[in-house]
Amino acid sequence: MLHLAVAALLLAIATPARAQAIDSTRLMSDLRVLSADSMEGRRIGTPGNARARAFIENAIRRIGLRPVKDSLSAPFIAKSRAGTDLHGVNIVSMLRGRMHPDRYIVISAHYDHLGVRNGVTYSGADDNASGSAAVLAIAQWYKYHPPENSMLFVWFDGEESGLVGAKAFVGHPPVPIEKIVANVNLDMVSRNATGELYASGASPYPVMKPLLDSLAATARVKLILGHDTGTGQSNWIQQSDQGAFHLKKIPFVYFGVEDHPDYHKPTDKFERIEPGFYYRCVQTINEFVRLLDLALDRVVLVRVAGLKGKE
Ligand SMILES: [Zn+2]
Repeated sequence: MLHLAVAALLLAIATPARAQAIDSTRLMSDLRVLSADSMEGRRIGTPGNARARAFIENAIRRIGLRPVKDSLSAPFIAKSRAGTDLHGVNIVSMLRGRMHPDRYIVISAHYDHLGVRNGVTYSGADDNASGSAAVLAIAQWYKYHPPENSMLFVWFDGEESGLVGAKAFVGHPPVPIEKIVANVNLDMVSRNATGELYASGASPYPVMKPLLDSLAATARVKLILGHDTGTGQSNWIQQSDQGAFHLKKIPFVYFGVEDHPDYHKPTDKFERIEPGFYYRCVQTINEFVRLLDLALDRVVLVRVAGLKGKE
């Protein structure tokens, strides 16, 4: 047994410290903080929203990602549905790609939620503290496993007010819009009674289908492709921030679960998260990002064709 121990020791010395897996402990503790009462439901323009943003930005600095320009905060002003001004702040960080630093994949989640209504806090644990914590975990993983292409890790504000943060982002992108090749958006990824996670986007962007099919074959959740066709509520394309990317013809995949009884209710709480399912979802999405990064040449062709079609 001794030689095995020696071999293990030599391997440990030869291999730089690497996080081999998504950090499940950190994932759950980040979700707990972001959905705590102190965040007051994270509504755009509120102190609770600013506290959530400060937490995410501290985590980004701990991970060691940098801003695209001088600040992680990207403020914007947008109109609310009622016509008033909304002051929002997106959070934008970057990890440079090893092979193609000038091509970008945007990994995103909205961090805002509904706030406090009639004295009741809407915690939005699943919607979307879960996606926000997941993007932090994925960013951490890529810091240890540098990607081929550059990645923008983005937390959008104002999704609940009509995707206003994502629309501001694609309207005034931090890098040239034609260099943004794909978006992977996470919104509600931490609970489902039957263990199902949806992936939307392969219908409008068939280039994503082989990647999702091979992912589904090995995923530790029931990965179902759909919710991306038709005109009714069952088409989710415009129901979260990927909708803003789709309007710019940027190929996307959205990951999320079916609505549950606590959707947009004060009962969307940390206690109702399913840790095992959540962790497997994040692993699955992380693996998708890895496959996408390795296959991005194919997606670039679709992106270029989309750009030409616009002229
Ligand atoms: Zn949401």
